[in-house]
Amino acid sequence: MRIGRLVLNRFAGDDARMRRLVTYWGATVLLYLLSLSILWVEVLSGVARAVPVIALTVIAFTGHAFFYLLIRQCERLKLTPSQLSVYQGRFAILCTVAGYSVMGPLRGASLVILTVILVFCAFTLEAKKTHSLSIFAISLLGATMVAMRFAAPDVFDAKTEIIHFVLSGSMLLVVATLTGRLSELRESLKAQKAELTKALEHIQVLATRDELTSLPNRRYMGQLLHQEEDLRKTEGPPACLALLDIDWFKKINDMHGHAAGDEVLKRFAEASRVALRNNDVLARWGGEEFLLYLPGTSLDGARDAVERYRQRVQSLVFGIGETAFGVTFSAGLVELTPGESIDQGIQRADALLYEAKANGRNRTVAGTAVRHATEQRQVAWME
Ligand code: GH3
Ligand code: MG
Ligand code: MG
Repeated sequence: MRIGRLVLNRFAGDDARMRRLVTYWGATVLLYLLSLSILWVEVLSGVARAVPVIALTVIAFTGHAFFYLLIRQCERLKLTPSQLSVYQGRFAILCTVAGYSVMGPLRGASLVILTVILVFCAFTLEAKKTHSLSIFAISLLGATMVAMRFAAPDVFDAKTEIIHFVLSGSMLLVVATLTGRLSELRESLKAQKAELTKALEHIQVLATRDELTSLPNRRYMGQLLHQEEDLRKTEGPPACLALLDIDWFKKINDMHGHAAGDEVLKRFAEASRVALRNNDVLARWGGEEFLLYLPGTSLDGARDAVERYRQRVQSLVFGIGETAFGVTFSAGLVELTPGESIDQGIQRADALLYEAKANGRNRTVAGTAVRHATEQRQVAWME
């Protein structure tokens, strides 16, 4: 086992696909060795002539060495495994039929090898190509039998040849049909796997993205922030959190319709892509409320970013003519303190957001909330 791995490392390298191709190639070398050894037994027993067997041995191994080089260079030569299989299969069929023609009384047994070749090729070939390979084998075998019958009628008995031909021909057709069916199943499994992968990717997007704005959704943001929380336990760079809430959004819906409200949410999200950095994460936290996470940013930098974004949103124009309108948002911004949980950070940001609302909206309030969030909310409501 270990030796096999070492040999494979030496001859195929690390690439899994290359290792598979070279393994198949190695298996066919063993098949050739077995077939040629039967031929050589016949030569040594004096029932087959040595010269054609020597020639066939040289051709078979030279061809095989050439195929090894071809496999190793297949990427550079842009050869697909299926093309390689066709070339290798045809060459193996040629060698087997040539072996049949120079063999002695055991020649009938060598025809089994043709079906083994077909099964080998079916691993990588499409059903149609396996069929055409079997037709190639049957035609070549038929032509060789006829030629041999004329060239050496005393050695090649017509009746025996016909039996050989009918048996091996029908075996090849049956094997081609069965392996072809297997190839079809393999292809449909491959297609199903690709579809499943695509569906899984789609589900992943649906599970992590908000459908309307395409921003990360609350679930994704929650997971992300709790992962960050674990990292922040071992003191890391600063990070800020901001809760953003569109001002008077209910009025927009009431005055311009729900579709206009949706449009505002979409363009609000689009504006973030221009105004914020790539590693800032803005998520739809619920309704017209958004949570912004600014990793690696201290409070001053985060305030600048949120203000930049606020001004960008303020400059957007919705609707046309007399019905044109603009939107603003209010934000509560905090820098997470070492050891503070994400939930505590969000609570502080929430309290500051209500301060921003209470102080006239369209503004960012940054810093530490003095009072507890719920208490703050009450103050904002009373004001
Ligand atoms: P404030 O400035 O105090 O935040 O006032 P507001 O009107 O923005 O806040 P309020 O919470 O009263 O209203 C939020 C509205 O947002 C109510 C809800 O119908 C609307 N809303 C929530 N989700 C969506 C949505 O996906 N599309 C639309 N068009 N409206 C939404
Ligand atoms: Mg609002
Ligand atoms: Mg709200």
